[in-house]
Amino acid sequence: LRVLLVGNGGREHALAWALQKSARVERVYVAPGNGGTGSAFANVENVEIGVSDFANLVKFAVEKNVNLVVPGPEVPLVEGIETHFRKVGIPVFGPSMAAARMEGSKTFSKDFMARHNIPTAAYKNFSDYNAAKEYLDSIDHDIVIKASGLAAGKGVIIPTTKEEAHAALKDIMEDRSFGDAGDEVVIEEFMTGDEASILAFSDGYTIVALPPAQDHKRIFDGDEGPNTGGMGCYAPTPLATPELLKQVQQTILQPTIDGMRRDGYPFVGMLFTGLMLTPTGPKVLEYNVRFGDPETETVLPLLDSDLAEIFLACVERRLDAVEIKVKPGFACTVVLSAGGYPGNYPKGDKIEFATPGPDTQVFHAGTAVRDGGIVTNGGRVLAVSATANELKEAVDKAYEGVKTIQFKDMFYRKDIAHRALKPRET
Ligand code: ATP
Repeated sequence: LRVLLVGNGGREHALAWALQKSARVERVYVAPGNGGTGSAFANVENVEIGVSDFANLVKFAVEKNVNLVVPGPEVPLVEGIETHFRKVGIPVFGPSMAAARMEGSKTFSKDFMARHNIPTAAYKNFSDYNAAKEYLDSIDHDIVIKASGLAAGKGVIIPTTKEEAHAALKDIMEDRSFGDAGDEVVIEEFMTGDEASILAFSDGYTIVALPPAQDHKRIFDGDEGPNTGGMGCYAPTPLATPELLKQVQQTILQPTIDGMRRDGYPFVGMLFTGLMLTPTGPKVLEYNVRFGDPETETVLPLLDSDLAEIFLACVERRLDAVEIKVKPGFACTVVLSAGGYPGNYPKGDKIEFATPGPDTQVFHAGTAVRDGGIVTNGGRVLAVSATANELKEAVDKAYEGVKTIQFKDMFYRKDIAHRALKPRET
């Protein structure tokens, strides 16, 4: 199997790591990749093609006889990368453009859930600014305002006063801070509870979930400060009990896959469901149509089956015949970011690595190879993942792994998994 993996984050390094272990995989090309995918494995190489440069990605894949394409990020999926490869007969582990609307348009996914009775926050969609303003004035409960389109995780505003709500609406719909992504907005009921991320493989008929993960979005300990792409993660989170996961499978995952197929846009790929575990049961916060970052770096080390085999089973619509094995125990990922992130941060600082302990993986995100060494090249620089029998042990191992890495102004949260553990002393 020759795989073209599209993307350049920690997620793609983790995917490359899992794929290159497969006996079936001859070569993995990563476009454009990062310092890790460009240096860590004998059968993985970077290709300098952008994630949305479909003409060149297709040309390259045809030339190299690639027989499986795995898009990492949402943008190329929403822009229709699957159509381009379908035309030349190369299978894509990822949804069609029509199915990718589940992430690309929040108004679309909310209407989908309403149509199929999938539990989610009560909502209203708006494309008219005045109508949205009038609605805001007419209600008296806590709400969340969301730009409908892709906004790199920044299009969700949780106002604490009516003035803030009006300011957010103006910002999105009138001042167009998120461009076209703000043409439509969703105004939905504010929900309370713990959050969990469910990553699940699907071939359009069968859907199989990996252990439930919990991400840490804020930059500072105690979930303070601005949002980031994700500062760490652990799995399985004990907050999602086996009974609750069964309920999620029956009331959310399977109805989603069946609903999409019946609506005429079957989902093939990785469906990532963001859940709020509310007092009245699990409800969908959002769908993503691809692997999460850093969730991927956490759950792939727990996977005990061949990832390439799973991808093939999905694109060949025979996932029901494949056993997806998961290791017992827990995984924890700590993200190391550049000082200043998620604001401005420097690039090009040299990174020093020592050998991490057992069951520990260092995945590169914002790194590049320079003069034979590795330098920082993004806000989230590295993700250190460790597995162990107990959650506390996995967390401690991940933090031991962090000690093997050094770069100027390196920053990381000290409290990953705090919702499941007592706060860390150091
Ligand atoms: P991501 O970066 O995860 O893709 P996104 O911008 O697509 O995020 P959502 O996942 O819909 O947006 O929302 C981001 C965060 O906002 C959620 O993780 C949750 O903490 C909060 N949030 C969203 N909707 C609600 C809600 N209805 N009630 C309470 N909190 C919410």
